[in-house]
Amino acid sequence: MDIEDLYSMIPKVPCPPGCITCCKNFGVPSRTKIEDERIKEYLKKHNMKVGEAKGTTCPYVTEKGCSIYPVRPFICRLYGTSPNYMCIENYRPARLLEPEEEEELFYLYRKYFD
Ligand code: SF4
Ligand code: SF4
Repeated sequence: MDIEDLYSMIPKVPCPPGCITCCKNFGVPSRTKIEDERIKEYLKKHNMKVGEAKGTTCPYVTEKGCSIYPVRPFICRLYGTSPNYMCIENYRPARLLEPEEEEELFYLYRKYFD
């Protein structure tokens, strides 16, 4: 299983264009070593610096959105898709994950990509 396969199992939240509310509320998103390496590679490739959170704002958020969007970590993708991670702006995917589905995603995430 590739990490992109895991990501593709997460429902999509229909975020309105330009919304960055959650990215301003949780600081630096948690990520595994594999994800951290993907982010560092992406930053290097695009001549960007590793950032530090300012208060609760993620270092990778810009007014246009996430600057590392293609390699954003699992938790950013999961946010808004389950009852444990409800979107602060109340947007939802077509179907929220069931608790067992969320558990399974975390299990696969930790088993293969931690
Ligand atoms: S998950 Fe919610 S708060 Fe975060 S960008 Fe989407 S709509 Fe905005
Ligand atoms: S990595 Fe991107 S999607 Fe995740 S919190 Fe930061 S700006 Fe938002």
